[in-house]
Amino acid sequence: MHNYDPASFHTAIEGKLKRKHRTTLEEATDKEIYYSIASIIQDLVMPKWFETNQEIQQNKSKQVYYISMEFLIGRLIESNLQNCGLLDICNQTLLDLGRRPERIYEQEHDAALGNGGLGRLAACFLDSIASLGYAGHGSGIRYRYGLFEQRIIHGNQVELPDYWLKEEYPWETRKPDEAVEIRFGGTVHEHKRRDGSLEISYENTDSVMAVPYDVPVLGYHNEVVNTLRLWSAELSPAENKGLSASDQQYYHHLDHIHSIEQISGFLYPDDSTFEGKELRLKQQYFLVSATIKNIIANFRRNHDLPLSMMPEYTVIQINDTHPSLAVPELMRILMDEEGYGWEKAWQITTNLLAYTNHTTLSEALEKWPVSMIQNLLPRLYMIIHEINERFCEQIYTTHPELRDKIHELAIISYEQIHMAHLAIVGSFSVNGVAKIHTEILKNKEMKNFYTLYPKKFNNKTNGITHRRWLQQVNPCLASKITDVIGPRWVHEPHKLMNLLRYTNDAPFLETMKDCKQHSKHLLAKYVYEQQGVKLNTDSIFDVQIKRLHEYKRQLMNVFHIIYLYNELKDNPNMDITPRTFIFAAKAAPSYHLAKEVIKLIHHVASVVNNDPDIKDKLKVVFLENYNVSLAEKIIPAAEVSEQISTASKEASGTGNMKMMMNGAITCGTLDGANIEIRDFVGDDNIFIFGLTAEQVLDYYAHGGYDAKSIYHADVRVKRVLDQLNGGVFGSQEIEFKDLFYNIMYHNDPFFVLKDFGPYVETHEMIDRAYRDQNHWQRMAATNIAHSGKFSSDRTIMEYVSDIWKL
Ligand SMILES: *Cc1c(COP(=O)(O)O)cnc(C)c1O
Repeated sequence: MHNYDPASFHTAIEGKLKRKHRTTLEEATDKEIYYSIASIIQDLVMPKWFETNQEIQQNKSKQVYYISMEFLIGRLIESNLQNCGLLDICNQTLLDLGRRPERIYEQEHDAALGNGGLGRLAACFLDSIASLGYAGHGSGIRYRYGLFEQRIIHGNQVELPDYWLKEEYPWETRKPDEAVEIRFGGTVHEHKRRDGSLEISYENTDSVMAVPYDVPVLGYHNEVVNTLRLWSAELSPAENKGLSASDQQYYHHLDHIHSIEQISGFLYPDDSTFEGKELRLKQQYFLVSATIKNIIANFRRNHDLPLSMMPEYTVIQINDTHPSLAVPELMRILMDEEGYGWEKAWQITTNLLAYTNHTTLSEALEKWPVSMIQNLLPRLYMIIHEINERFCEQIYTTHPELRDKIHELAIISYEQIHMAHLAIVGSFSVNGVAKIHTEILKNKEMKNFYTLYPKKFNNKTNGITHRRWLQQVNPCLASKITDVIGPRWVHEPHKLMNLLRYTNDAPFLETMKDCKQHSKHLLAKYVYEQQGVKLNTDSIFDVQIKRLHEYKRQLMNVFHIIYLYNELKDNPNMDITPRTFIFAAKAAPSYHLAKEVIKLIHHVASVVNNDPDIKDKLKVVFLENYNVSLAEKIIPAAEVSEQISTASKEASGTGNMKMMMNGAITCGTLDGANIEIRDFVGDDNIFIFGLTAEQVLDYYAHGGYDAKSIYHADVRVKRVLDQLNGGVFGSQEIEFKDLFYNIMYHNDPFFVLKDFGPYVETHEMIDRAYRDQNHWQRMAATNIAHSGKFSSDRTIMEYVSDIWKL
């Protein structure tokens, strides 16, 4: 893609600094150098971007559109440099200039247009689609404020707005000519034509312009540049009235502009929960309507064919139910604007859409009040109503055995619209994101839908891009791997399996350990700079980084730390392998119990880290503002990967895959993709404990669990809980009463006490296993070898062959 060498790259930066910033290499700030490098990349990318689009048009190849309310892309500078083959040259040039590359790269604001795993998955998928050379585009919202920035003040989470567009974002290109109009509200009129068909018109709608901003998505060393199109809400020019400041209306008009711009104003910070806020519904319709109009326009530009042919050339994947208004919106456009009848429109719609389910947590399932959709989207409501009528009628006639289940299957029931039901009925494919998750969908959560549509259901176990999560974040390890098995694994990640030949190779295991130590030192340095805590780099780095959620059970991890602390206080000479517990997690701002856990981690850290009896044996650190860039710092240094969700709750997890790929050993429950990790690496290379999904679901269905009896029977548990309740951690006795009450009086809904004993024993095994470093490194190498199967390249190839048929 380029023909730079360090000398010409140096000259190029110099030229950019001069022309764009009126400065020199010596005088330039890190930020100016960052912008210069980004601009050099954009110059290389633009023609390739154009050519990729030309090629798609000429080949008329089938395209996939991935619609997602979230794209957690993080920084792009390094991955863009890497994908166009410039990373080494750029690093060398910067070092020659006496600049630290990481200082330059961190000038880019981490783009956090997502909450967690779901949004990061979308970002990894775009990387894999482009790197495998497929024509696939992301479509999302250009939120002016991304996920909040987390600060910790006296142990409490405080949220600050993330105004990531404060400075120019060098990767985006505004495309005003491709803006589309989105209409909300109003009234619907039906006129019967002479032939009996209906003509639909709308009156008094509110118009909003959706203006696209395109971000290039570079394939790895293949000259492919796909597009992530992010939509921004603006005032429709037709509505911009010429009013003077003295006019009463003027202030109303400003309010109106503000309310329109709010549609792409901010990302809702809830992960795995549903909040029925009207603005969120507006965002969803805004994204869906803009994307579909864009897809139809692209189809018309590329083909001289009727829209009924679209499914041959286009497929739309919706990431969770958030974009499931795509079902009625497609129907609306096909019928009201394109003149298709219901049957034909339905056939086109259901052949275009494919739906990915991400959760079975009931609190996350989207259900919008009928009245809200009626008010905001009256025509869509009519269509959803009709879809529901026809669907229920179809069950009644074709599946008499399900007649008494119709109210459970219905799209509209009890004045609510069930978006998952709408998505299943309206698409040709429904996939879960890990084997166990898909099985739970088929046999429990969506059992009746599975009876109706057995062929729609399929599994696509999630993945992560190994280019970012190994090659880029851990260059030391990546180069040692290449030294022994060659570079092919970067293109074909399953080739990492060749590492199995080196699991008994002492020199290789030694170099792996050196890399791990190097990463631990870098992380320790960061922690010291951030919070003045000195980490013992000979201790086990035990890592739990993910959104803070009760089901992910950070609380169980904390209870284990308190237990170890108690043991060491009772017996200061106890023989334990030193441990550093590392946490990072954001809690949804309204999630009280999650915020309490963050506070507890800080209180426990302050007790443990400042107790002279503990010496260097235990350390607890919480790193603030977990995001992609922080994950990139922590993951290479992880040795134990905590994946301890209540079985059946974590659909897949991807943090587990990232850490495995960097040689961490998983300590986990039989949940999500942990199960497939175990199946690949074998029981000897993973630490599995706790209730199975079946047992958990059985307890939920039939009862029989009593948290208090464990409290009374297990002295370790009793002691920890009494300390929690008695003010040992915290400034007053009532400090953590809500956490205590939730376990004791709400019967420990996530089985923390039930799994506590097995968790402690598993950690004792980890403690012993780590003492045999040769054995430990062998386990690490085995994990890395098998991690190729969790590359998102594999996931995308499965989507392509089973769903998208590109
Ligand atoms: C990978 C990733 C996640 C998902 O982590 P899980 O452990 O699978 O929940 C969340 N946030 C960020 C920033 C990530 O990189």
